[in-house]
Parts: sequence; C-alpha cells; structure tokens
Amino acid sequence: MDVVLQRGREGSLLRRHPWVFSGSIAVVTGRPAPGETVEILSHDGEWLARGAWSPESQIRARVWTFDPDEAVDEVLFRRRAESALGLRRALGLTEPSAAFRLCNAENDGLPGVIVDHYAGWSVGQFLSAGAERWKTQIVDACNSVLPARGFFERSDTDGRRKEGLPAKAGLLAGAEPPQLIEYQQLGIKQLVDVRRGHKTGAYLDQAESRAYLRTLIKPGASEVLNAFCYSGGFGLHAAAAGAARVVQLDQSADALEGARSAAELNGLGAACEYLHGDAFRELRTLREKGRAFDVVVLDPPKFASTAAQVERALGAYRDINRLGIQLLRPGGCLLTFSCSGNVSAELLTGAVAEAAADAGRSARILNRLRQAPDHAVGLSYPEGEYLKGLVLLVD
Ligand code: SAH
Repeated sequence: MDVVLQRGREGSLLRRHPWVFSGSIAVVTGRPAPGETVEILSHDGEWLARGAWSPESQIRARVWTFDPDEAVDEVLFRRRAESALGLRRALGLTEPSAAFRLCNAENDGLPGVIVDHYAGWSVGQFLSAGAERWKTQIVDACNSVLPARGFFERSDTDGRRKEGLPAKAGLLAGAEPPQLIEYQQLGIKQLVDVRRGHKTGAYLDQAESRAYLRTLIKPGASEVLNAFCYSGGFGLHAAAAGAARVVQLDQSADALEGARSAAELNGLGAACEYLHGDAFRELRTLREKGRAFDVVVLDPPKFASTAAQVERALGAYRDINRLGIQLLRPGGCLLTFSCSGNVSAELLTGAVAEAAADAGRSARILNRLRQAPDHAVGLSYPEGEYLKGLVLLVD
C-alpha cells in the first residue's frame, strides 16, 4: 500500500524527519488498516520511506525505516532494540540496580514506543497505531536484548486518543511487578510505583540535572526549596549532598508520601520538610512568612500542551519564577525547567528574564540544562527536545 505525497512535500522526509502529516498526502492506494505498513512516495513516485499508517491522527504515518532494503518485521525491532540498549550501555546506565530509558520513541527509530527500565522491570508506552500493531514483537525484541522480570504497559496517556487508541495498562509479559520497585540513581535509592506513578512511574529525564544540583549545595549550610517535587528526586540529591534543609513541595499527597518514604529509605529524613499544596499559593505564603532559600528548584508539569496554550503558559512560567526568585537569598541559585515541547529554551529564558525584572533582581545564567542523554534527541527530530532548564545565579 502506498502513500503518495503532494508535490513539494517530500523535503522533511528527505531530511529524515519521521512524520507524514495528513495535509501533505495526495493519494493513498488501498485501504491500510491502523498500524499497517505503507510505502511513502514522493508525488512523482520516488520511494522515500516505509512507515506505519495512523488513520485517526493528524500525523498520518510514522516512519520505521528510510532504508528501502529494510523490511518492517521482528528483525527490524530487534535491531532497533539492540541499538537502543547499546547507547545506554555506552552511557554507563545499565547497572542491574539502575533505572534508565531504554527506548525513546522517534529518537531511537521506534515512533511511539517509550520503554523505561527500572532495576530489572520494563515499563512501556505504545503511543501510535504502529506501535500498537507491533506491540508483541517490540516487547519480545526489548526482552531479548534486555531480559526483564516483567514487562508492564502504561499506555494510559492522552496522546493515545489522538491516534484513536483506547487507554491501556497491564502486564504484557513475565511476572507482575511488585507494588514498589526499588532502584538506584547516583547513590540514592528510589521507589517507583509503575502502576500509579506519572508516565511510566518516574521522571528519569531529570537524572543529570539532579546530579548537577549537588554541585550547588554547600554541606551543612544550603537550604533548598524543591517545588513540584513529585517523588522528591531533586530534594533527595540535595539532602545527600549535605543540604541543611530541604522543603519538598507538591500538590499531590501521594507524591509527597513517596518522597517521604524515599527520604527515610536513604536515611535523609531529618533534613526534609514536606509542604502539601498549590505551588503558586505556597510560594507566596513562604514569602509572607519571611522564609528564604539558597537554592530553589522549579520543575512544573507541562503548562502548554498545544501551540495555542503557549501564551498562557508563558504567563504561568513568569509568575512561578518571580515567586521562586523572590524566595532566594542574594547569591542564591534558581534551577528552573519547562517540559512543554512548545516552549523553546528562548521563550523560557524570556519568561524568566521578565520574572527577575518583576522581582527587581539581577541574575546571570550559570548553565543550561536538558533531558538526560538516555533521552537523546534525533538531530532530524527537534520535537524530541522537550525538557529544558536554566540555572540562574541571582544577586
Ligand atoms: N521534579 C519532579 C518531577 C515533577 S512532575 C522530579 O524530579 O521527579 C510535576 C509535579 O508537579 C507533579 O508531582 C504534580 O503533582 C505537581 N504539580 C502540578 N501542579 C502543581 C501545583 N500547582 N502546585 C504544586 N505541585 C503541582
């Protein structure tokens, strides 16, 4: 079955971008079923790529291969899984007790396939019609290169709806994972609930930024506010680096409970304080109470899911960053993030600059942070770069 593009619409595929949008298609021959393999051709019949058909999505096809000689079958999935594991191995991330992202979707040549691995257990999200169609083969391929005691599915995300797929969660292979899986990250023990946690259970994308935070901590002195803490990662690393005080703040009581258990597990409970509530309100309250910190971490959820929400999101980034900056002692550091794909590093920097001006404070950029390298971004796929951070030294 062939998908023939309109004249002049082949450029992105020639640059190896893996998506075909509905608006660029001229003709489809046959009636491909969801996830079925289609040949993607230019308007004059030149072969461009082979991909999976997604009839419900605006992204109407996603490319499995740009090689005309590569068939879409078990062998391809095995090859992709091997290559994905090879990268993580080279990064030194595959110790048995570690957690890492094994497969980062389009960036690893497997559109719509996310696989995170937590100390012997794999958790997958299958977010496109093609990923759904080949799920069994993909699970087998992952298990053959990295045997997991169990492979659990967490395809219960909004993105599936755009593909016309129902939310799904449950065991795909092997044994049922325990309620909490323990793994290690840079010497910190973490607990993850892969059934109820966000995404596949944890935010592995912040691993390097947590390590970086440690370098900013003055043992026995630093007071740290970790807003939007989820399972407490940044705060735990700050406490392990010797922070005198760590305030873990989240609006989810479950998240704070997880952060508390992890602190106890690591013997770091004494340094930690927990604040349950809305960050926008709680930061104001902290300010009114005269609290001040040496380091403030702001890692909010996605404020913009679509391009139309960017303006409003920038307002929210400006607000929360102003509050964060106001809570910093002179010479303090702000680590601030955006995981909204639609908000570029430049837009985030602009919003934070306005926030500093609102707070009447000068600041310098010490560093820029990004998602950890097991979330490496395909050079031809800028959409893969969603997480960006900024480290400010605030006068
Ligand atoms: N920093 C975390 C990941 C943050 S995910 C880590 O390193 O693992 C975003 C978190 O923000 C979630 O835990 C969510 O419960 C919390 N959250 C969302 N909106 C919030 C709000 N308005 N106030 C406080 N927490 C909020």
